Amino acid sequence: MNLASTLPLLAALALSTANPVQALDQREFAQCLQQLSSDASRADLDRESFLEYFSGIDADPSVIERLDWQPEFRTPLWDYLSGLVDQERIDDGLAMQQRWAETLSAVEQQYSVDAAVLVAIWGVESDYGRITGERPVLQSLATLSCFGRRQSYFRSELFAALNIVHSGDISADDLRGSWAGAFGQSQFMPSSFLRNAVDFDGDGRRDLVGSVPDVLASTANYLRQSNWRHGEPWGAEAKVPGDLDTQLLGRSKRRSIAQWRELGVEALSRPEQWQESWQAGLIAPTGLDGPAFLVLRNFNALYSYNAAESYALAIAHLADRLRGGSPWSTPWPTDDPGLSRAQRRELQQLLIDLGHDIGDVDGIIGSRSRDALSQALASSGFERDGRVGLRVLEQLRERADAAASSTTTHQR
Ligand code: CA
Repeated sequence: MNLASTLPLLAALALSTANPVQALDQREFAQCLQQLSSDASRADLDRESFLEYFSGIDADPSVIERLDWQPEFRTPLWDYLSGLVDQERIDDGLAMQQRWAETLSAVEQQYSVDAAVLVAIWGVESDYGRITGERPVLQSLATLSCFGRRQSYFRSELFAALNIVHSGDISADDLRGSWAGAFGQSQFMPSSFLRNAVDFDGDGRRDLVGSVPDVLASTANYLRQSNWRHGEPWGAEAKVPGDLDTQLLGRSKRRSIAQWRELGVEALSRPEQWQESWQAGLIAPTGLDGPAFLVLRNFNALYSYNAAESYALAIAHLADRLRGGSPWSTPWPTDDPGLSRAQRRELQQLLIDLGHDIGDVDGIIGSRSRDALSQALASSGFERDGRVGLRVLEQLRERADAAASSTTTHQR
């Protein structure tokens, strides 16, 4: 969270088309750590114990590569959402809601934040605790503190991370996460942890790696600090006249629901307690041809968790689905929809069936899957770094069918 490209999002998008990793000057790294150690008191440490945390640790060039990583093309919103809010994540979320019902109700009571939203954030950030990142946070943050852009930001996060370890909440070994240092089941950055993490299971540690009650309550605490209004919806999908002035669009261009109605904009299905006096912004992230949304204060609270409207929409929609809500009714303006994780796995299995070595089926269309796709679909003009949507999957299904029937013919 807090940096747009958190780990699960990247895993869901899986667009990585990495450049070769540039080596970093390890002597420069050692000098930089020496320099940083003069601020060791920021983490309540002396210089020696600060440096001990980094003895034997090299700078990790791959995190600098991620820092500078720019996607080849903007991911369409329908690709982003089809991986994050798929049937699998809805089903898993419903199961988690049941399994943690007692905890969720205690958290909801104490923090006044809706349980479905907490489960949705948990599901999107770490797939309910299953994908939390493998990189040692201290190593990543020390590297980012000494090389590349935004060093002063990452230095603050480094000292925050040391504070977490030093306080005994989480050990340095367990502090693993994304390239940017977001860690644990809620993917908090270290500074967010220090501000918002709570010990809800009462074992004396704020354990956002291993304790689900701590994770859910800390997420609730974060949203409460971001002015979450209990019982209010985030907003709703809206019907918008095709000739609406697009100058009116924007999360912060707020009007009352009543004023929007006068402009022909109405909620397609009205959430409970919908009030005419509420102030809402209107967003249409793929233009007036696609779905549009009236967004209320709680949408801004979700936005504060990870500053992207696409992210806030993913959480909002997953939470609605966990409450039994329907899919949005307006289709995305595309004839080539995005793939769910199940479809991404199907695509990988087809590549294996066709004889390509892509490693394990993990639902992440990484560089090996892309190499194989560009071989398998060369004649259809698939480009290695191109978009992988339903059309590509359908082409691959045809190839696999053709291959299977030709094998059958030979066997006859
Ligand atoms: Ca605890």
